[in-house]
Amino acid sequence: MEKIVVIGGGAAGMIAAGTAASRGKHVILLEKNDKLGKKIYITGKGRCNVTNSSDIEELLNHVTTNKNFLYSAFYTFTNDDLIHLLNKYGTSTKVERGNRVFPKSDKSSDVIKALEKYMVSHDVDIRLNTEAREILIKDKEIMGVKLSDEKIIDCDKIIIATGGMSYPTTGSTGDGYKFARKIDHNISPLKPALVPLEIEEEWIKQLQGLSLKNVSLTTFYKNREIHTEFGEMIFTHFGISGPIVLSMSSYISDYLNNEKIKAFLNLKPALDEEKLDKRIIRDFEKYSKKQFKNALSDLLPSKLIPIMIQLSGIQEDKYVNQITKNERKRLVDLLLNLPMTITKTRPIKEAIITSGGIDVKDINPSTMESKKMEGLYFTGEVLDVDALTGGYNLQIAFSTGYLAGTSV
Ligand SMILES: Cc1cc2nc3c(=O)[nH]c(=O)nc-3n(C[C@H](O)[C@H](O)[C@H](O)COP(=O)(O)OP(=O)(O)OC[C@H]3O[C@@H](n4cnc5c(N)ncnc54)[C@H](O)[C@@H]3O)c2cc1C
Repeated sequence: MEKIVVIGGGAAGMIAAGTAASRGKHVILLEKNDKLGKKIYITGKGRCNVTNSSDIEELLNHVTTNKNFLYSAFYTFTNDDLIHLLNKYGTSTKVERGNRVFPKSDKSSDVIKALEKYMVSHDVDIRLNTEAREILIKDKEIMGVKLSDEKIIDCDKIIIATGGMSYPTTGSTGDGYKFARKIDHNISPLKPALVPLEIEEEWIKQLQGLSLKNVSLTTFYKNREIHTEFGEMIFTHFGISGPIVLSMSSYISDYLNNEKIKAFLNLKPALDEEKLDKRIIRDFEKYSKKQFKNALSDLLPSKLIPIMIQLSGIQEDKYVNQITKNERKRLVDLLLNLPMTITKTRPIKEAIITSGGIDVKDINPSTMESKKMEGLYFTGEVLDVDALTGGYNLQIAFSTGYLAGTSV
């Protein structure tokens, strides 16, 4: 019986192992942690946004890097196939806003359990606390895998599913790149993607912990608009994070290599200038005998009020009935365009995804087999593919993992 070693017990590795074993292969899965799927466990804030139920073309449209490479994988093992597999192995799912799919229990551990069941039911030999150190090749043929304790496992084929470089405490420490480099694979530069952003302005620190809903963020490079995102964000001690910021990072990271990026936060995107002005006039009538600092509580969260007062240049103790039309216009403008300067992304270890990785030109997109080494397969985040938030990145891991498992 052909012997396959899968390196990495994350999303890609588990599905690859289960699938190869379901086809009668003898499969050994190596995971260096003491449990499977440590990264899956922290996905979706512990709820695991496991895929997205949009149609396949729509899924592909959310892939940021090397979309074309993923056609075969996405059409061979679809989002429906994944949901079906999870259901079959005991985890039912539900669909939420934006077609995001989660386990019905809201527990990421249920996704891991289903994948483990899939593997166990097909007799995958799961070896935890087992770290692959080196891939052994002789005369251009795969011989086996050397472990960190120097033991050797002989095998005919290897699937590398070691993940990227982000959140390294989950086990994704970039080992797959080392293996690939040794066998002359090209590695596209590794960069953080879906990552929080650092902000230059000092006032940002006073907002730490404040989260905002229904706001929009627009970025500019040399006065040219790059992108707008609408939704939720949060202020942190270094800058900004949260869903719209993580998505925005994918659009601006290339620009940030050279320069700072100007961003404008619209705190009231549902209102245009005229409507917002009318709304403020109403508030000012209501609070006409109060000081400016006591007139903004209907409009803004309390943490933001001192910052907006400072940036508006209107004296905080000025009585509202003395605020001039020009001052009011300045406030309107600030609410619609709060300026911030993005200096850089946070480091890769804080990124949701590693962009870059094994150059897809070295990989056959119909099988995930290396074009440089017969019998060697790469799947999941170790490849130079990545997508936006919404369940797409896990679908990449599952689809490429399945394809490798069905091709070995
Ligand atoms: C905080 C956070 C939240 C996220 N939320 C979502 C979400 O909700 N939806 C979504 O689609 N995506 C999400 N992602 C992205 C998603 O988790 C990854 O894209 C996906 O887990 C990649 O799967 P993988 O199997 O390729 O790699 P990983 O899940 O990283 O698995 C790699 C495995 O290989 C093991 N390994 C590495 N080297 C070795 C070695 N030498 N020997 C043995 N084992 C080894 C590691 O220990 C690890 O278990 C999130 C990521 C983060 C960090």
